[in-house]
Amino acid sequence: MAEPAELQHARQLDAQDPLAAFATRFERAEGVVAYFDGNSLGRPVAGAARAMERFVREEWGTRLIRAWDEGWMSWPEQVGDLVGQAALGAAPGQTVVADSTTVLLYKTLRALVDHQLALDPARVELVLDTDNFPTDRYVAEGIAAERGLTLRWIDADPASGVTPEQVEAVVGERTGVVLISHVAYRSGFVADAPGITRVVHDAGALVLWDTCHSAGSVPVLADAWGWDAAVGCDYKYLNGGPGAPAHVYLARRHHDLATLRQPVQGWMGRRDPFLMEQGYQPAAGIRSFVSGTPPIVGMIPVRLGAQLLAEAGIEAVRRKSLLLTDLAWSIVDSWPRDLGVVVASPHEHERRGGHLTLRHPGFQDAYPRLWRRGVIPDFRSPDGLRLGLSPLSTTFTEVWQGLEAIREELAG
Ligand SMILES: *Cc1c(COP(=O)(O)O)cnc(C)c1O
Repeated sequence: MAEPAELQHARQLDAQDPLAAFATRFERAEGVVAYFDGNSLGRPVAGAARAMERFVREEWGTRLIRAWDEGWMSWPEQVGDLVGQAALGAAPGQTVVADSTTVLLYKTLRALVDHQLALDPARVELVLDTDNFPTDRYVAEGIAAERGLTLRWIDADPASGVTPEQVEAVVGERTGVVLISHVAYRSGFVADAPGITRVVHDAGALVLWDTCHSAGSVPVLADAWGWDAAVGCDYKYLNGGPGAPAHVYLARRHHDLATLRQPVQGWMGRRDPFLMEQGYQPAAGIRSFVSGTPPIVGMIPVRLGAQLLAEAGIEAVRRKSLLLTDLAWSIVDSWPRDLGVVVASPHEHERRGGHLTLRHPGFQDAYPRLWRRGVIPDFRSPDGLRLGLSPLSTTFTEVWQGLEAIREELAG
């Protein structure tokens, strides 16, 4: 039997892929046919095991506590700059890698909210959207309760995302801060980041971007777009490993303001921490966003992931990403209509991120069977199968094989 046209097409795309060699620079998992969850947990970079071992034996094991003075102390800024340059379009000195995404969201959102209230006590509204990731919504709820703020919800379409028009309709003199995901976790919708930033600033408000699904997947130009702040994961498209410390970006113009302070005042974010003095005084610049002892071990894979991304370049990554999702889309389009699968993601390239969501009532039953076959998407209630097609580690043939398994499971 002749090979299906879409499989031939996939092979051709692999043969022409300028990033093809990067797929060999990740650990390969035995028995995995198609990994579609790089947007949830990226694969380990191939050198990670060696780097971790070297770290244990040669740095931690040999240098012991001296290593803090010899470099570890500045890893939050160093690794932050790597992530900032590779993934955020951020000039050095504005990004640190520190706590979990959730904790950094809390610290940053609280800092921005309090700053706004200090400048203008009438700015008591926090704007966010109903389809933002749960942790973002919960953190905002907690801060609203702490600070007596009102949450203004934008009703976002789960198959697309938040538009500048929707933001414009709710922001005004009462808005303190707007919290939005650059790429929506469900649909993969890429928000108009420069457009929304302008609308927010025109209203005198500040915007905090969640970059969990955009860092390492779509170009981010935090400096050029005039972003105020961003927080995002390093274990998704940055391959930093489960629970890797997250990144926070704060634009330089907001540094060292008496009113803009993150609330978890720990010794590692203090000026001269080893003087052990009475009273907290924030360190200069973005360092003040560090609270306690930095998670050094967790930064080793983050560093490797960011270096690999820098080597490939985000523009090339984005080109491949669009070819990957185009291929997936055309395969799904080639399926019989009565199979009943629909794509719940934006079709136009400008608004499409690195993952697609397919919907079908049979996915809840099918996905454990897919996992057993080594085809690994993730399931998002009630009927969504998310295909995260990490450009550096995913091949076009892998996309065809994974989707063929999905089609077979549905066809029964
Ligand atoms: C993955 C993700 C998170 C995860 O936060 P953690 O603190 O790392 O669990 C938060 N926000 C968004 C938008 C995400 O996609």
